[in-house]
Amino acid sequence: MNGKNKKIACIFFMMQIVFLSSARNRDKTVISNQGFSSLNSIQIKDRVFPRSVEELQLLMQKIEGPIAIAGMQCSMGGQSMVKNGIIIDTKNLAHIVNFDAVGKTITVQTGISWRSIQEYIDPYNLSLKVMQSYCDFSVGGSLSVNVHGRYVGYGPLIETVQSIKIIVADGQLLTASRTQNSDLFKAALGGYGLLGIIVEVTLSLTENCKIENKKIYMNVDSYFEYLSKIILQDTSVVFHNGDLYPPYYNTVMSSTWYKTDKKLTITDRLQNLNGSIRQKIGISLARRAAWFKKMRINYEASNSSEPIVCWRNYEAGYRISQLKLPESFSTTLLQEYFIPLENCIEFVKAMRVILQAHNPNILNISIRHVKANNETLLSWSSKECCAFVIYYEQFKKQNSLKNTIGWTQKLIDAVLILNGTYYLPYQLNARKDQFRAAYPTYKKFEEIKFLYDPKVRFQNYLWQAYF
Ligand SMILES: Cc1cc2nc3c(=O)[nH]c(=O)nc-3n(C[C@H](O)[C@H](O)[C@H](O)COP(=O)(O)OP(=O)(O)OC[C@H]3O[C@@H](n4cnc5c(N)ncnc54)[C@H](O)[C@@H]3O)c2cc1C
Repeated sequence: MNGKNKKIACIFFMMQIVFLSSARNRDKTVISNQGFSSLNSIQIKDRVFPRSVEELQLLMQKIEGPIAIAGMQCSMGGQSMVKNGIIIDTKNLAHIVNFDAVGKTITVQTGISWRSIQEYIDPYNLSLKVMQSYCDFSVGGSLSVNVHGRYVGYGPLIETVQSIKIIVADGQLLTASRTQNSDLFKAALGGYGLLGIIVEVTLSLTENCKIENKKIYMNVDSYFEYLSKIILQDTSVVFHNGDLYPPYYNTVMSSTWYKTDKKLTITDRLQNLNGSIRQKIGISLARRAAWFKKMRINYEASNSSEPIVCWRNYEAGYRISQLKLPESFSTTLLQEYFIPLENCIEFVKAMRVILQAHNPNILNISIRHVKANNETLLSWSSKECCAFVIYYEQFKKQNSLKNTIGWTQKLIDAVLILNGTYYLPYQLNARKDQFRAAYPTYKKFEEIKFLYDPKVRFQNYLWQAYF
């Protein structure tokens, strides 16, 4: 090599070092942001990205200090974060481990997203039985919240889980199911990463099918009877939700998807990454313009007459990017309340009074049905219930955050009077006494946690706030 070439090689080598170290710094950032809401930023010690179960077990021997576990970090109140701790990011644990198309089961590593599973099973015409309305979440984050969707005839995700593998605080890899380490199974599902790192899960699947949408507009007072007497009795229903319109909360748009043999009007098998411009303008107007909210029912009703026939996998897989808009002084958040079916009308009345008094910018309230399920220790659906999912704009100013704490705490008081509960993956606005009333099994949960994690290695904001 001559002198000139040596100089070029040297510059190239230096550039590589700078690039690699900046990539490392980007990966090992000390500030951790929440994936969807971008509200919580904190100082952390390190963020690690294990590539295999064995590497993760070794890491567990080496790392010191509190540990939090991250999937896609779309939970909104620091559930995947711990100050000055280590974040175990699961995104590289994302392989399909086993697939049985005939037996309709799949075993996956839990850093994988629902979307990746959908892409894998769709060619076999199979579907996930239960997931959220959006498909970008990690399976691990979904198991640890025990999520639900708009599926009729199902309860939460745990109903579709056969078994899990989990690395507990001492680094052991354990299998847990309804028959093996069942205390761990019940605590880890819906356990917000406080029992260990779920690294693998076996899920049961169902047939993909063609579905047709029908929308009906009705007064909210008639809606819950219609839901229980008509929709829940019809075995051809796949998805259902009701949208309760702000600012009056009187009218519900009931949207039901029935199995059909009709010709597809949407031939795509899965959703694209970005929503249409029309969809984004709709969200933007709903967010900012009070006059649009009042006209929204008429606008949507006039657009709902066209028949829509698509695949179940298509309707199951909305993308979060379709929802996101550029944000600066505000963001959009969710809160959710679970009310026994027979008390829903009373809840709507109480909610209307609270929301109209505090006047937050509510963009939508989606109502979904969930079957009772008591399998998890921190169960949120011990009775058959309706979930009220409130989607709202949150301004980042202090007084706006304070106002939100006000109306969300009042809603939880109303929920508790009506024997309901609230959801834990969102902003942790509830008071400690409210959490304990809504989740009376928290003590049993603590007992199992201390059994598997006596030194409390796994922590997050939820643990610190309420246990
Ligand atoms: C736009 C939007 C729509 C939503 N819609 C729904 C809905 O329809 N239904 C519903 O039920 N929820 C819904 N949610 C809530 C969402 O399901 C949860 O926040 C879910 O946890 C997000 O998954 P994630 O991968 O981002 O989890 P993360 O936020 O990364 O993690 C959630 C919790 O799980 C823990 N965790 C993550 N991975 C593991 C693991 N491998 N082992 C052990 N613990 C782990 C974390 O520590 C944390 O406590 C919605 C949220 C958003 C932002």
